[in-house]
Amino acid sequence: MIINIAIDGPAGAGKSTIAKRASKELGFIYVDTGALYRTVGLNVLRQGKDTKNPDDVIPTLEGVDISLRFVNGEQRVFLGEEDVSEAIRQNEVSMAASNVSAIPAVREFLFSLQRDIAEKNNCIMDGRDIGTVVLPDAKIKIFLTASARARADRRYKELVEKGQDVDYDSILADIEQRDYQDSHREIAPLKQADDAVLVDTTELDLEGSIEYMLRVIKERL
Ligand code: C5P
Repeated sequence: MIINIAIDGPAGAGKSTIAKRASKELGFIYVDTGALYRTVGLNVLRQGKDTKNPDDVIPTLEGVDISLRFVNGEQRVFLGEEDVSEAIRQNEVSMAASNVSAIPAVREFLFSLQRDIAEKNNCIMDGRDIGTVVLPDAKIKIFLTASARARADRRYKELVEKGQDVDYDSILADIEQRDYQDSHREIAPLKQADDAVLVDTTELDLEGSIEYMLRVIKERL
């Protein structure tokens, strides 16, 4: 039997780092659905169009080929034959992804792709609406969160370690704006599913968060 685990939560809560580690431990594939919205956003940006305007965004979906491939259990995302896994991590693509994700046609476009993967694979899938919309019957649902300040602190440290010159206040503002946009949109807003377990990592470090998450999962498998 196929087992699906849904992890939702706001930007910067550590979903991908934690889910990646947990999926390795369980031998599941890890599916990062944000990468799909980012790829749609990247494609719109590259065409010089407005990521907030449905009349600009919807035509870009026609004939576009977005796919996920798994190499040694690691997800790579493709736009046509181009591996855009790194290109989608640029800062401007984050906001573009959040903008296009509020457009219903974009969500519909990506829905079956996500469902198909989950039907065929034991997976941990993370996003904003996985437990509520994409996989409402997932065996385990987790809502992973941390305070906006804790998330901004982590992101700030991560970028400083990479040698980037960053401004803490703008990172915090960016996180708060995306939280607001993602949880106030009309379609599939970010919210905890009724049957999801809340995991708050504000007071935990990475290892503590992973341990906590694995305990929650293993208790329910
Ligand atoms: O998770 P990540 O930050 O890469 O996601 C980028 C954006 O894509 C989010 O801010 C959110 O607006 C959107 N998204 C979504 N539904 C998902 C995953 C991501 O709307 N399942």
